[in-house]
Amino acid sequence: MYSILIGADGANSQVRKLIDKEYKPNGFCLEVEEFPIKNSNNINIHFDCFYKGYGWCFNKGSFSTVGFGGEYNKQKILESTELSNVIFKYYNVNSKDVKGAFVPFGKFVKNPCKGNILLIGDAAGFTDPITGEGLYFCFKSAIYACNAIKDYFSYNNKFTLEELYLPKVREIQEKIKEANKLKKFIFNKVFKNLTFAFLKNNLEFTKYVCDDIISTYTRNYKHIISSYLLSRLK
Ligand SMILES: Cc1cc2nc3c(=O)[nH]c(=O)nc-3n(C[C@H](O)[C@H](O)[C@H](O)COP(=O)(O)OP(=O)(O)OC[C@H]3O[C@@H](n4cnc5c(N)ncnc54)[C@H](O)[C@@H]3O)c2cc1C
Repeated sequence: MYSILIGADGANSQVRKLIDKEYKPNGFCLEVEEFPIKNSNNINIHFDCFYKGYGWCFNKGSFSTVGFGGEYNKQKILESTELSNVIFKYYNVNSKDVKGAFVPFGKFVKNPCKGNILLIGDAAGFTDPITGEGLYFCFKSAIYACNAIKDYFSYNNKFTLEELYLPKVREIQEKIKEANKLKKFIFNKVFKNLTFAFLKNNLEFTKYVCDDIISTYTRNYKHIISSYLLSRLK
């Protein structure tokens, strides 16, 4: 028995089944931890090596993380995996300890609260569909859930948990929706090379996107160009 149940059990959430039986995460990634990889930068990103996704090599001092991920598509997955193995070959990764995981990739649970059950983080599908990052939304939704529960008790059940939690998580969902729209453009066959060449050649803009959008979401993807230009003017 429980008074309130929070589903914080990740992409393959069991608690989610009590709210939405149909949901399945739409992203997939493979990753391996290796000895430090020499002759590479600390942060290496390889676009275009997975279906609507990317590959990475992060040097973390005593070890490196090499992997790739993107949208899970049964038709494209073999083709994508073969393509992405190039990354392991490129970094000379021989390890057999490759780990795989399904991840939400811009697909969220529409109403992640039903009765006295709330979902947060990956269980609710709160990840950025362009980067696959979920830590920011995971903490944000956890804060919203805490506040909703606190208010639920302090208002003596005057409002339901759904009334208190859902309007707050709509903010997260709106950000994900915006990113989903931009993703269609970014991973479009025609525009993708142009976009990545632009990011590579305009590091100040890329830094702005990483700092103000991906890391903190203080700006919206929707206003990516206009807010950048405004910040330059200031
Ligand atoms: C390879 C990889 C790299 C990533 N890199 C980044 C990154 O650089 N930046 C970023 O922001 N995000 C990254 N993410 C996404 C990020 O890890 C997730 O969005 C975030 O961890 C979600 O947090 P969570 O608490 O919702 O779920 P999780 O971190 O998955 O935590 C869920 C917990 O619930 C437990 N659990 C599950 N089922 C049960 C059960 N039945 N009973 C008991 N316990 C259970 C699990 O063991 C786990 O501890 C990455 C994901 C992957 C797979």
